[in-house]
Amino acid sequence: MKLIVDEITGGSIEARSLLRPNDSPHTYTPTPADAVAAQHALTLVYVSPELDGWIAQIGSPHRIAAMGLLPESLRLKMPEDVLMEEDGHGHGHIDPHFWPDPAAVMEVAMPLALELGRLLPEKATAFADNAQALEGKLRALDAEIKAQFAGIAHRKVAVFHPSWLYFLRRYGLEVTAIIEPSPGKELSPRSMEAIINRLKETQTRILLTEPQLARGPVQAVADAAGVPVVEIDPLGGSIGATMYEDLMRKNAAVLQKALS
Ligand SMILES: [Zn+2]
Repeated sequence: MKLIVDEITGGSIEARSLLRPNDSPHTYTPTPADAVAAQHALTLVYVSPELDGWIAQIGSPHRIAAMGLLPESLRLKMPEDVLMEEDGHGHGHIDPHFWPDPAAVMEVAMPLALELGRLLPEKATAFADNAQALEGKLRALDAEIKAQFAGIAHRKVAVFHPSWLYFLRRYGLEVTAIIEPSPGKELSPRSMEAIINRLKETQTRILLTEPQLARGPVQAVADAAGVPVVEIDPLGGSIGATMYEDLMRKNAAVLQKALS
């Protein structure tokens, strides 16, 4: 969210990420200093109450839920048929991880610029212009990634945590299993067996994980199923990406290489 806000403001206002590089929004707890920072901020931009459960513990005068800006027709349902564990209340029925899809971000850019412009009317025109420029960059990025994945023969991917489903669907990759819908939950031996069978039966090519998740359980599943683990970063902290496009290009390159 910070990288997207920075593009819209052109860096003209300071945006700070409350989560540190390897924090997962699902397990993050705000420190007292974070709560103070949020309290004094012009606004707190977050994804959704389902994804950012921590939002309930923090007060801030103004908030923007980015997921609420994504047109309903573009929101993905959580694919129940490939969920290997009960999601509980972890994510809800609508998948909130929209931002790894440049086409979804393209739809959110202008509404977000308008929201921010309402808070800073003197900058509203500049924010709208920046959002328009961002749409252009995202359109080019989308075409670039589409071309990158067009010739891939192996398209079957399992994910440990469902943060890449918008991306995978956008670029024609198939999700065979979502292993751990709620981060931090233990896998039972029974679901472990079901997962291994699913990965084998579907001839899944890779298992995706993220630097924000513990590696032990991921590796155990991958080793048992004989599938390599590929790590990509939906949040960008581990890559040190300073721009959204940069983050997406780096992740897309890793994924393309793993599937080639
Ligand atoms: Zn999640």
